[in-house]
Amino acid sequence: MPDDPILGLNELFKTDERPEKVNLGVGCYLTEAGNLPLLDVVEEAETRLSEKKLPHGYMPMSGIPKFCEAVKHLVFGEASPAVVEGRITTIQTLGGTGALQLGAAFAHQYLGVAKAVVSDPTWGNHIAIFKGDGLTVSKYPYLNAAKDGVDFEAMIAALNEVEEGSLVLFHACCHNPTGVDLSHEEWRKVLEVVKARDLLPLLDMAYQGFGDGLEEDAFAMRLFAESGIRFMAATSCSKNFALYGERVGALHVVCGDKREAEVATSILKALVRAEYSNPPAHGANVVAEVLGDPELKKRWFKDVVEMHDRICEMRRALAEAGEAEGADLSFATKQKGMFSFTGLTPEEMDRLREEFAVYGVRNGRICVAGLNHRNVGYVAKAMATVLK
Ligand code: PMP
Repeated sequence: MPDDPILGLNELFKTDERPEKVNLGVGCYLTEAGNLPLLDVVEEAETRLSEKKLPHGYMPMSGIPKFCEAVKHLVFGEASPAVVEGRITTIQTLGGTGALQLGAAFAHQYLGVAKAVVSDPTWGNHIAIFKGDGLTVSKYPYLNAAKDGVDFEAMIAALNEVEEGSLVLFHACCHNPTGVDLSHEEWRKVLEVVKARDLLPLLDMAYQGFGDGLEEDAFAMRLFAESGIRFMAATSCSKNFALYGERVGALHVVCGDKREAEVATSILKALVRAEYSNPPAHGANVVAEVLGDPELKKRWFKDVVEMHDRICEMRRALAEAGEAEGADLSFATKQKGMFSFTGLTPEEMDRLREEFAVYGVRNGRICVAGLNHRNVGYVAKAMATVLK
């Protein structure tokens, strides 16, 4: 069995002894110092929790209610009619991955959905998860030929051909791996097709806050929720709380009315029961503590802005350093979120790794959050050399 292309890369990186090595294959936000952050607010919430000396009991199958409510509000907005009307059921999951898995299982086993379509390209695990849940998976075109924007016409044409009732995966923001997102106008058009074809959208939002900001990144979620259609959303606290190992995420099923949402909740609980019984407590308690305290919440908003701003700064720095080296790396400033599609071929990515110890995914994806002021010039120079 071949290694996961991204995790395999990390293993290779660890054994590389060249001191100049740079890991842009990671799927994590790193600080300017090159470390995984431990957010102040997370530390404080953990101190408070440890002072409470809570026993390690089982959590409810659907997760910690305070966590589910807080995350629902973060994603859809507290005043959202769908939230107020009780049309959304939110279940705590094992990260965003667990949310995608649970959503796909729900769609397949209870709604009779047989097919899923995903963007080409997409995060590789989408395909594995959906296949694992018994869905057949095909792709809709997404990236344009220049690899710096969406081929929207082709995307819409393909969505118009998708079999009615199919599950369609969309990246709500910060598309992984391309960093290329839809405009508000494009989202409105997508929604029209979704309605006309009676598709079941699953909106994946693993990077809320890293694109244009916490509120702005939720645009598609809120647009879909306000439209009254039924859909699902998978969200994650891995990146914006830097809680990767704690496995904190949520599945939201937006239903037609409150009664339907209650039925969905009981079905989801049955699925959870058979899969892992109940979710882990720690990470979700931390998030609930932060979002439940106005002062901590305010500080966390600032943390997210700081992470967002550092990503944007590195995007600018890469493009500028590229220019100085005579290479067009302007893709960096056109794209959003943690990832960028460099447009480099697998062979060029191999050269980056072999000759310069710069590690990125062979499909041309780099994690911009792995850049810092010490390595960005070196990376730009390596890319410029490979692109010559
Ligand atoms: N969706 C996308 C697009 C992702 O990139 C990731 C993480 N790499 C996830 C979902 C899953 O996130 P988590 O680590 O919370 O399971």
